[in-house]
Order: sequence, then structure tokens, then C-alpha cells
Amino acid sequence: MEACNAYYYASRDPLGATGDFTTAPEISQMFGELVGAALADAWTRGGAPRDAAYVELGPGRGTLAADALRVLRRAGFRGAVHLVETSPVLRSAQAQAVPAANWHDCLDDVPPAPLLLVANEFFDALPVRQFVGAIERRVTLTPAGLAFDRDGDIVETSPAREQVARQIAARLHASGGVALIIDYGHEHSAPGDTLQAVRRHGYAPVLAGPGEQDLTSHVDFEALRKAACAHDVKVTKLVTQGEWLQHVGIDTRAAALAKAHPDRAPEIRAARDRLCNRGEMGELFKVIAIHSAAWPAPAGFE
Ligand code: SAH
Repeated sequence: MEACNAYYYASRDPLGATGDFTTAPEISQMFGELVGAALADAWTRGGAPRDAAYVELGPGRGTLAADALRVLRRAGFRGAVHLVETSPVLRSAQAQAVPAANWHDCLDDVPPAPLLLVANEFFDALPVRQFVGAIERRVTLTPAGLAFDRDGDIVETSPAREQVARQIAARLHASGGVALIIDYGHEHSAPGDTLQAVRRHGYAPVLAGPGEQDLTSHVDFEALRKAACAHDVKVTKLVTQGEWLQHVGIDTRAAALAKAHPDRAPEIRAARDRLCNRGEMGELFKVIAIHSAAWPAPAGFE
């Protein structure tokens, strides 16, 4: 999964109508603006440290960073921007959207600072392991192509995701700050096979075309929470994306945008619904925050 996704992301921009999938920031500027507003508010209430940095994991085309930073800059934030991205194709897209950014291969390379960290649809792309009973399920090469070596009741784990959650928590504990993690997944650890491949906006067989389709699985937020708690940080409750966006003011923002651009009102309404409604992204996608003990919980989790 790791090798397939590394090749997949390094060799294309998979986002948008002509790609394989569309993410929340690509649906509407409102998403990134509200993330920026929540971070600006947390930063202000955290004492507005001048050395705080905006850090994003897996920033895609840089759309979320550009929208969030527009709001953060307006709130007086002048800190550095660090983007953790391995794909050269996406790094060059990000350089168009956020010219002043610094790029890194992993969070460990980001210089220490109080963090305003965002990860949207990043964790789901990190690799999982699957177990049938006590035995790890593996992929083998058969005369007919790639195949799983066993079937049965599956339990998934993701040491890679837990490691990043621990790294984030260690950073927050050491230097302060907040992290917003947005992804699709479930609140409680549960058995089940959630590995899936996405290609041209639909599901594809997971072992078909290795490196030519996006491999993802549901994020186990309970496992992330436990991993983060290895350090002395606070983890908020988990809320659905729809609830969170409404708590932080998507309806007010949608109304303001529609007033400024009456011709675009139906499009703005449709984007708001796609981001918030059940059956669209509103319920499957979840938001959780991690923050240092000295910083307040970001808005939207009360
Ligand atoms: N956050 C963006 C893009 C999500 S797609 C959005 O919401 O539109 C996943 C992103 O994570 C891509 O930018 C991909 O290149 C990056 N990525 C995937 N695996 C990574 C890894 N191991 N390290 C750093 N970036 C990674």
C-alpha cells in the first residue's frame, strides 16, 4: 500500500473532475476558510505566539493552505508555512498556490515551533496492515496476477498512522499549538476490511493496477487518540464534518458569499450541502483536534 501510493501520488495530480477523487477544499473555498478561521481563533486564544507555524500534512494542490492562510493572515498571523509532501507533482502545484512555503518529506524535518497543523485526507492514504486471526494477510503473485494469501475475518491496524499521531502529539507537547485532523473513518476501533481503491470517482478492485489508483482505508480515530495520548496533550471529542462546519459558521459564510456573488448562489448552496449533508461528506468524514495543555481546544467541538 505504501509503495503503491508513493508511486501513485508521485506520478500525477489525482484531484478534481479529471482525476480520481475530489476532496473538501476542492469543493469550495469555504472549507479552507473555516479551517483558517478555527486556527486563527485558537492561535489568538493561545496567546498569538509570533513564532507559530502553519503546518499541513499532504496538502494536495495547496488549495486548503491558500484558503486557510488568507484568513490567518487577515487575523495577524505572520508565521512560516511548512508543507509535508512527498509528491514532486503536487509540490509544484502547491508552489503555485502557496509560493512562500517550505517543503519537507516528513513531520520530523519541520523545525520546532508552536503548531497550527492541518491534515485533511492525509491519514487515510497511509498504509494499513490486515490480520486474519493472528496471521498477517499478505499479497502474493499468482499466475492470474496479484491475490491475497488468505481470507476470513479481518482486523486492520495502522502503525504508520499511529506513528504520525504520536509525532504530532510530541510536537504539541514540546512547543504548544493545535492540530486539526479531518478524514473519513470511524470513532471506535472495530474489526472489518475497509481497504479500498478509488479510480475515476468510483471504486475499483484493490489489487488491480498497483500504483495506478488511490488506495485508502477508513481511519480508526480511537487508535489515533490512543497514540496521541502517549504524550501529555488533550484530544477533543470526535465530531462529524457536517456538525463541525456548521459549528464554525459555514452557513454564515455561505450566506455572505452568496450575497457578494448572487449569480453563484445555487453553486455555493450545493457546495455547502455536499460538505455537510448526511449521505454526502457530512457524516462519513470526521474532525478531531489535538492541542497542547496550555492551548485552548479549537472551536467546533463543544
Ligand atoms: N489534503 C489534500 C490532498 C489529499 S490527498 C486535499 O484535501 O485536497 C493525500 C495527500 O497526501 C497528497 O498530497 C499526497 O501526495 C500526500 N501524501 C500521501 N502519502 C504521503 C506521505 N507518506 N508523506 C507525505 N505526503 C503524503
